[in-house]
Amino acid sequence: MEALELRDVRKSYGDREAVHGISLTVHEGEIFGLIGHNGAGKTTTLRMISTLLTITGGSISVFGHDVATEPEEVRRIISYLPEDAGAYRDLTGRAYLNFMAGFFASGQEKEEMVAKGIELADLGERIDSKVDTYSKGMMRRLLIARAIMPNPKLAIMDEVTSGLDVINSYEIREVIRGIAKSGVTVIMSSHNMFEVDMLCDRVGMIDQGNLILLGKPADLKAESGADTLEEVFVRAVKG
Ligand code: ATP
Repeated sequence: MEALELRDVRKSYGDREAVHGISLTVHEGEIFGLIGHNGAGKTTTLRMISTLLTITGGSISVFGHDVATEPEEVRRIISYLPEDAGAYRDLTGRAYLNFMAGFFASGQEKEEMVAKGIELADLGERIDSKVDTYSKGMMRRLLIARAIMPNPKLAIMDEVTSGLDVINSYEIREVIRGIAKSGVTVIMSSHNMFEVDMLCDRVGMIDQGNLILLGKPADLKAESGADTLEEVFVRAVKG
């Protein structure tokens, strides 16, 4: 069974169609990257996969569960980290993880979940500092920990390194690699072609709501005779 299957997925906002029939498959254990420039339709697609937006046409299934007819089953096995996610700033990192774990588990299971979150966040003693004292990089680590501690089968991350400096982006990529190694399938969006090239097993390029290329970064570069994914993208868009 595939981790994720999109078949001719469409989304309209009012009478304007933003996603024009995207089909793709993500295999279990993969890190899959959706790339494209602003307004391409990445967030819309991720929000449809996350059951937060209804789809206008086509179908999406997550580990065999249809997002339209079995949204509860889908929600049980995914986690979605939006680009603009925040945490309760008055809480410490530990208290935040503890609070969030309470939505998923209780007793021993909850304690184990929080312990896993603390390990993933890897904030050292700053886990006991208030969230409003965290840097952007620390905040992102905490949010990723929150998203992964309930052990989703599919982690959906929107622009997870946006606004981070080189070192923090590098560290977050390491965290994502570790998450995938532990068996979680990841679908993420990014504008950053370099990042996607470094991190993703396969990528889908979206332009104006259309999937224009799909494949392994190395294959896409070889097929287009380009040195970078950025070049592949520009050539595909400009024709
Ligand atoms: P970015 O990288 O800037 O986040 P994106 O690739 O995630 O862009 P989307 O946010 O999915 O793109 O937007 C795709 C298109 O749908 C854009 O033209 C956007 O203006 C439009 N759109 C998104 N959300 C809405 C909404 N709630 N109502 C109307 N149009 C919307």
